[in-house]
Amino acid sequence: MTSALPNLSQESVWREHEPLATKTTMRVGGAARFYCEPATEDDLGSILMWTKELGLDWFVLGRGANVIVPDEGYSGLIIRLTHPHWRQIFMLDDSSLYCASGVRLQQLSAEACRLGWSGFEFLEGIPGTLGGALRMNAGAMGGWMLDRVLSVRLMSPDGSVTELQRSQLQGNYRSCPELKGVIALSALLAPAQLENPDCIRARIQEFTQRRKSSQPREASAGCLFKNPEGDHAGRLIDNAGLKGLQCGQASVSGVHANFVVNAGSATSAELIELIRKIRQEVFASTGKWLEPEALLLGKNWEDVL
Ligand SMILES: Cc1cc2nc3c(=O)[nH]c(=O)nc-3n(C[C@H](O)[C@H](O)[C@H](O)COP(=O)(O)OP(=O)(O)OC[C@H]3O[C@@H](n4cnc5c(N)ncnc54)[C@H](O)[C@@H]3O)c2cc1C
Repeated sequence: MTSALPNLSQESVWREHEPLATKTTMRVGGAARFYCEPATEDDLGSILMWTKELGLDWFVLGRGANVIVPDEGYSGLIIRLTHPHWRQIFMLDDSSLYCASGVRLQQLSAEACRLGWSGFEFLEGIPGTLGGALRMNAGAMGGWMLDRVLSVRLMSPDGSVTELQRSQLQGNYRSCPELKGVIALSALLAPAQLENPDCIRARIQEFTQRRKSSQPREASAGCLFKNPEGDHAGRLIDNAGLKGLQCGQASVSGVHANFVVNAGSATSAELIELIRKIRQEVFASTGKWLEPEALLLGKNWEDVL
């Protein structure tokens, strides 16, 4: 297989058997068979064509804040948009902000505040990149990522680039289906309204305080389960008496029951076992199956739960 490696520019990073645990916030799991940090759109297109020719699976990993890596790793290609090319953020004109997909959400929130743009405050404290936040339609404190979007440029698996307007994107709860199986390259963003940066900063600080008092500090993938219609997964897990439940080094946080945390050296197998137990206990007490929000790299939850 090595003789057929894609031809990339010198600035791109290419590695094999690359450990992934430290590239996610949950910090578990094995290595990727192939790993690439493309430096340009051309390089990204080349590696997508390469995977297509080989029939190899690929996955674009942002900050890995919503992804659990299995212990056996990933047999395909992991793509990360970490090169400075994917971290550009600048005003295009006086009404839209160009933001590349690798920009961290915290940076985006800070930049919007500096511009006096409200509507991005909720991003403070959500670990991740713009690409992951678009795909997941990340949301908090009443704000949603897609609400700030004018358009998204994306690359399809055949390397072609298109632009979708906001009206062509569905903003579902924790999902933007049009971005499944493609790579968001960048987005044009707009404010909710213009406001004094000091007022925006005050809201950011308030949100930060709220998070600090309600979320655990240990490694996690954020809220592990989606909230069922009209309810909160954390409330159901707490009511089932599961706070503190442990499987090896993985446990249900005592601070927020919808956070499963890694005490340090948890394995993916321990996490999955814990997730299975939580679902079964909650089903036994409520008749509702909780659906994971976090993704299991390269697998379907139905196959392991
Ligand atoms: C402590 C903590 C708190 C959290 N709080 C919140 C919260 O309040 N609200 C919330 O919504 N989420 C929250 N999360 C979850 C997570 O931060 C968000 O889902 C975030 O948007 C994930 O971004 P990411 O870059 O890490 O994406 P990843 O986790 O790396 O990937 C998530 C998905 O996005 C896809 N993706 C990544 N980049 C791209 C791209 N360029 N193009 C297309 N698809 C892409 C991946 O393939 C994957 O399917 C929290 C997580 C943690 C650990």
